[in-house]
Amino acid sequence: MSKTHESNGTEKLIIIGSGPAGWTAALYAARASLNPLVYPGRAVGKDLLPGGQLMLTTDVENYPGFPEGLMGPQMMELFFKQALRFGTRVVTDQGVQTSDTIEHGLYTPFQNVESVDLSKRPFHAKGDNGFECHAEAVIIATGAKANWIGLENEQRLAQSGGGVSACAVCDGALPMFRDQELAVVGGGDSAVEEASYLTKFASKVYMIHRRDQLRASKIMQQRARDNKKIEILWNKKVIEVHGAEKVTGVQLQDTQDGQTSDLSIGGLFMAIGHTPITEFLDGQIDLDAKGYIRLKDPDRSTTNVEGAFAAGDVADSVYRQAVTAAGMGCKAAIDAERWLAEQGIE
Ligand code: NAP
Repeated sequence: MSKTHESNGTEKLIIIGSGPAGWTAALYAARASLNPLVYPGRAVGKDLLPGGQLMLTTDVENYPGFPEGLMGPQMMELFFKQALRFGTRVVTDQGVQTSDTIEHGLYTPFQNVESVDLSKRPFHAKGDNGFECHAEAVIIATGAKANWIGLENEQRLAQSGGGVSACAVCDGALPMFRDQELAVVGGGDSAVEEASYLTKFASKVYMIHRRDQLRASKIMQQRARDNKKIEILWNKKVIEVHGAEKVTGVQLQDTQDGQTSDLSIGGLFMAIGHTPITEFLDGQIDLDAKGYIRLKDPDRSTTNVEGAFAAGDVADSVYRQAVTAAGMGCKAAIDAERWLAEQGIE
């Protein structure tokens, strides 16, 4: 791919990722005159989604300050605008842009980071459309991506648009799912949220959960129980996905007695958690056993690489909330600012 621009000189701070953590880090860094440059990620075909996982959600009802709630993408557009208002720059396919030149908000074609070299400072980053830069400090806020069970037909039908998806909010309203019986796999908050959302279109939604207890919060469990269109299939796992062009059903196995059974459905949605996006780091930063960035000090955003900070879901396997991610982004910007000042870079 062609090299689309190169930054002049060394950046003080680059931020990789653009969910609540990335934009909050950018907001604080911009207001601290660090002139941050963000690689927001790419919308199509890449893991790093501009705006992060909230772009795949509907109502956000638990972010303080919004008593009526608001839609996830709407919230991220506000984060984005606020960060740009104070001078944050972003890496797009047209090179570096600012609030004066951006026309399509979070739907601008941004660049994803393909690789980083953290072995010496200044660090080096390379975008997937060739934008390269050097930076004194980096904040990694790449978040996490949806998990799949890993069945052959699941992957095939997901890729061909055959009715298997890891995002009910993105795909659930498609005509192919209307008035169908659908299934969501998982027992966490996401599974309940996705199942509830799908009941707007489906005639019935099964939640397939591998245990006899939901992991979801009490309020979400109540939401599932109260919804007449949701039926929970306990102690079941999906061992096969049926369908040639389009999903027609799944084979289930009881996790207690091993018995198998078939369930006819017209759509299958995965809500079985996420995996942190850390592959591009190529082993240069310490990760924990689940692949999340290991913070050097749990109260800070520092990593084992001096000058590299981490924030949001990529470094948090416990809370993973928009508000905690935003808080971590704030901490990372302050940590980076102080560290840069200690290096005599202001
Ligand atoms: P999660 O809490 O990790 O739940 C994942 C679910 O998938 C669990 O029920 C798990 O089963 C199941 N699972 C994992 N791997 C599986 C496999 N291979 N096969 C079958 N089932 C599998 O993930 P999440 O629901 O995406 O939530 C992530 C975080 O976001 C949480 O902190 C959650 O509170 C938050 N969140 C909040 C809201 C909200 O408040 N509205 C909405 C969405 C997410 P086990 O239970 O047996 O482990």
